[in-house]
Amino acid sequence: MTSNEPVLPRVRPEIAALPPYRQGRQADDAGFKLSSNENPFEPLPGVIEAVHRAATFNRYPDATASRLRAALGERYGVEPEGVHVGAGSVALLAQFIQAVAGPGDEVLYAWRSFEAYPGLVLVAGATSVQVPLRPDSGHDLDAMAAAVTDRTRCILVCSPNNPTGPIVTAAEFEAFVARVPADVLILLDEAYAEFVTDPDAVDGLAARVFEAHPNVVVLRTFSKAYGLAGLRVGYAIGHPRVLDAARSTAIPLSVTATAEVAALASLAHEAELRARVEEIIARRDALAAALREIGWDVPEAQGNFVWLPTHDLEGVARAFDDAGIVVRAFPDGLRISIGEHESVEKVLGIARSVVPSLSPAVAGAPDSVER
Ligand SMILES: *Cc1c(COP(=O)(O)O)cnc(C)c1O
Repeated sequence: MTSNEPVLPRVRPEIAALPPYRQGRQADDAGFKLSSNENPFEPLPGVIEAVHRAATFNRYPDATASRLRAALGERYGVEPEGVHVGAGSVALLAQFIQAVAGPGDEVLYAWRSFEAYPGLVLVAGATSVQVPLRPDSGHDLDAMAAAVTDRTRCILVCSPNNPTGPIVTAAEFEAFVARVPADVLILLDEAYAEFVTDPDAVDGLAARVFEAHPNVVVLRTFSKAYGLAGLRVGYAIGHPRVLDAARSTAIPLSVTATAEVAALASLAHEAELRARVEEIIARRDALAAALREIGWDVPEAQGNFVWLPTHDLEGVARAFDDAGIVVRAFPDGLRISIGEHESVEKVLGIARSVVPSLSPAVAGAPDSVER
C-alpha cells in the first residue's frame, strides 16, 4: 500500500456502487426553488400554534401516532388499525418493500417514475423490474400486468406519476388489480392525490379498493398539499394484517410528536387546504396550457408539477439555472414544481426563450413554434 488512504469498513457492493443522496441546490434569495414539489404556502392556520403548544423535547413520541390514526380512520371510514403512520411516505415505501421483498424477489414499477423507487428496492436486496411508460407518459398497466412473474412480490403504482404527471384511471387500476395474483402487494402511491382534477382518476381511498383486495395499500403524505414536507409525516391505509408487516420493519419512534400534532391540526382546516390547493391547480393548468401553446409536449399534469420532455437538457437546464430557478433535471426531461405565483410567468418566459433552440423532435408541436 503506497497511499495514505485509511482502510474503511466493507460495504455491500451494491450499496457502495450507489451515489450517496444529495439534495438539489437551494434557490438563492432572488430565485425560486421548483425542484422538489414542495408547497409554496405557509402551514395551514393553527398549525404552528398547535406545534408550539404541544412541544416536548425530552419525551419519546407515541409510537403508533394513535391520535392521528384515529383521526384518519374516522375521515376515511376505517378502523385505526387500518391506518399506519410513517415519517413521510418514503419511509412507508421502504417498510413495505423490506417486508415483502428480499434477494431473488422482484419489485415492479413503471419507469420513469419516482426517483426513490430504485434505491429502496436495491437497499432491500431485491431486483427492480422497470416497465416503460406509454407514449403519453402514463403507466402501461397492461405491460406491467404482463411483467408479473412468480418472483414478483411488490408492485408500485404512482398516480399521478412523479415526475411526468398523468394519472391512472379507476377503471385501469381495477382491471390491473384483477390480473395481479392476490398474494402480491400493490402499493398505490398517491402522494399528489389532493391535486387531481381528472374525474376518471383512481382514488384508492374513495374507491376503498383495499376492502375487496387486501393486497392493495394506499399511501398518502402530508408533505405536498398540506405543506409539511419538513416535518416528515405520511400514512398508509389498508388491511390491518398487511400493515402489520410494515409496522414490523419500521424504525420505532421515528414519527415525532411535532409531526403528529401538525398533521392533526392540518386535518382540521380542510376549507383552507382546498383553497390553496385550488390555487396551485389553477397555476398548474395555466402553466401547462401556456407551455403547450408554445410547443412543449407537456403530458397531462395532475400533480403540483409539470413535465417538460426534452433531450436537449443542458441548454434548457442552464437557462433556468441562469434565471435563478431551480428545477429538477432527469435524463429525459425537466420537472418543474408549481410554486409561488410570481414564478409562473418567469418559468414561462424561460421556456419560451429556449424553444427556438430545440431540435424539432424535442418540442412537441414544431409547426406552432415561431422561428
Ligand atoms: C413526494 C413523494 C412521496 C412522499 O414523500 P414524503 O415526504 O416522504 O411523504 C411519495 N411518493 C411520491 C411519488 C412522491 O413524489
